[in-house]
Amino acid sequence: MEYYSTHIGKLIEELGRLPGIGPKSAQRLAFHIISMPADQVKQLADTITAAKTNVQYCRICGTLTDAEVCPICANPARDHRQIMVVENSRDLAAYEKTQKYEGVYHVLQGAISPMLGIGPDDIRLKELMQRLQGDVDEVIIATNSSLEGETTAMYISKLIKPTGIRVTRIASGVPVGGDLEYIDEVTLLRALQGRTEL
Ligand code: ZN
Repeated sequence: MEYYSTHIGKLIEELGRLPGIGPKSAQRLAFHIISMPADQVKQLADTITAAKTNVQYCRICGTLTDAEVCPICANPARDHRQIMVVENSRDLAAYEKTQKYEGVYHVLQGAISPMLGIGPDDIRLKELMQRLQGDVDEVIIATNSSLEGETTAMYISKLIKPTGIRVTRIASGVPVGGDLEYIDEVTLLRALQGRTEL
């Protein structure tokens, strides 16, 4: 990258570390940023810093939020006896967009993957089991239908079964390996409504 200024080279390098950004996109973004008005660049940089500083994980469900407890967990109108287990905050957002789910969530922040060396202790399973000591009627497992998602679902259902709490799995209308966030709301709703007992 010596044919660029050192600063642009560094910017391209940093942008290129982001997921889904290849060398060409990183270059395009870097040149775009340089061409932006200075105040807009500052706003972008400040927004990134502010997000990193202020966003935290909800003490109850583990989703990304601005407060100690997220708006969903803090909402008394939600059904706190129904917990949907998802892999990440993006999946939670996908279900929230349907506006049809009235329960609460538990965000695992990952999925079990023996291949990547991610075990049950590396995701928020302990926290889930702790929550189940309260009044809970149903746990809906909505992990992805990837190998990791299915492995995680099996593991969780085995863990919960002895407690006598109802465990269900969203229907397999969700494409195999499909990230939940890319699936349309109708498909998600169908998957939720067609969930089966585990
Ligand atoms: Zn929460």
